[in-house]
Amino acid sequence: MSQLDAFLAGERHEDVALYLTDQYLDSQGKLPKLGEAVEGGYVLVVPGDDGRQAFAAGTGMDAMEFARGAMEETGHISRSLDGGECPAADGDDAAAHEVEFIFAFSEAQNEEVGGLYERGDVVHAYAHCACGVSYSDKWVVGEEAATGVQPGGSEPVESTE
Ligand SMILES: [Zn+2]
Repeated sequence: MSQLDAFLAGERHEDVALYLTDQYLDSQGKLPKLGEAVEGGYVLVVPGDDGRQAFAAGTGMDAMEFARGAMEETGHISRSLDGGECPAADGDDAAAHEVEFIFAFSEAQNEEVGGLYERGDVVHAYAHCACGVSYSDKWVVGEEAATGVQPGGSEPVESTE
């Protein structure tokens, strides 16, 4: 099992995952292409502190500040952390709304918190779009299609149950 698969399975709560597209890395010059090559870019799964440093080095932003800002908008983020659907896209300008990078972490199941957290391990993902908009998604491991924002949607499905 790759590090990314283990992360997505909720087995690496101490780690964070970063996805950076080839295009973004190329446009930023000399950033190293680290991690696992995936469709369109690279995913790096590393311990939290290293991940936050890598994120800051790669994007010039503070990871937690980025995550806080991205929480204001929801949009579908690919369950394999290699793409997303920008909530500002109106359908005919897909190229202007390519994901540039994604930051993600997971939390262990916590029955006391209730809601999603009662159902299982939760993956939190935050994406930055080429248009400048950031957005977030979160889902329960094992219920990827039943929780969070689904493709074509704009709101988490569990909040409309
Ligand atoms: Zn966009």
